[in-house]
Amino acid sequence: MSTLWDVHVIEFARSKDQPLIDLVNGAHDAGVLDLPFGFVLAQNGGRNVLVDTGFLNEGSGAEFSKKFGIPDWISPVRMLAELGVKADDVTDIVLSHAHFDHMGSISAFRNARIYIQKREWLSWNEAMALPPQYGFLTAIINPDDMRSAFDAAVEHRLTLVDGDRDNLIPGIHVRLGEGHTLGQQFTIIETGRGRLVAAGDCVYSRLNLTGHRHDGVFAPLNNGIGSIWKQLETMDRINEEIAGDLSRLIMMHDNDRWAHLPLVKEVEGFRIVKAS
Ligand SMILES: [Zn+2]
Repeated sequence: MSTLWDVHVIEFARSKDQPLIDLVNGAHDAGVLDLPFGFVLAQNGGRNVLVDTGFLNEGSGAEFSKKFGIPDWISPVRMLAELGVKADDVTDIVLSHAHFDHMGSISAFRNARIYIQKREWLSWNEAMALPPQYGFLTAIINPDDMRSAFDAAVEHRLTLVDGDRDNLIPGIHVRLGEGHTLGQQFTIIETGRGRLVAAGDCVYSRLNLTGHRHDGVFAPLNNGIGSIWKQLETMDRINEEIAGDLSRLIMMHDNDRWAHLPLVKEVEGFRIVKAS
């Protein structure tokens, strides 16, 4: 098997009139945008790997979607079917972190092995047990997603990754990217056009890396529970990995809806683009 992967980015939701200041520190004058939500499909041989999963708009998932103002949604399962991938054919899921918009569909992929950082998993279990006054920490965590991950653990389908790991799957590497959450990870995928980085929520916007004045002074996220110092270290690692080439960076909430990548298909207004 070659270790070069075919990669698609799949959009599955959009929030409405989201102020950029909610996402990027210092973006006071940047107004609002309809923020896209995406995940990644990497394919090689018979292997279908997701980096993040999107969320399901039913039950508690629908409540979270409403709470965070995300009126536009299409099923991630439906979008994968558009590429000929059935839910049961998904072999692996690499989770950047446990926020509901990244992890909220894991229950739909019953055969997949799920990879998450050990620190991400353990820290949320700890945070969930804190008294209600700590609720800010877990505001974006859907307990039902945690339950689904626990079910996967009982079925021996959950792998807790302890820090950086090369070839987690051949040609797919993960790096600890603390900051937005304590055990966030970003994913490096080897492809025909070099190593691409799926950023998870380590980077929301190009602005995070370019800086507001395009002077390369990283702008931290405004939405995180880890330290800003760690966030900036993570951005530095990502920037070094892509050697400053933003075309190699896949942002899950790309403001430009991956306009730099060729469009494969548009389904009810949601884009599927080819990253390699
Ligand atoms: Zn997040």
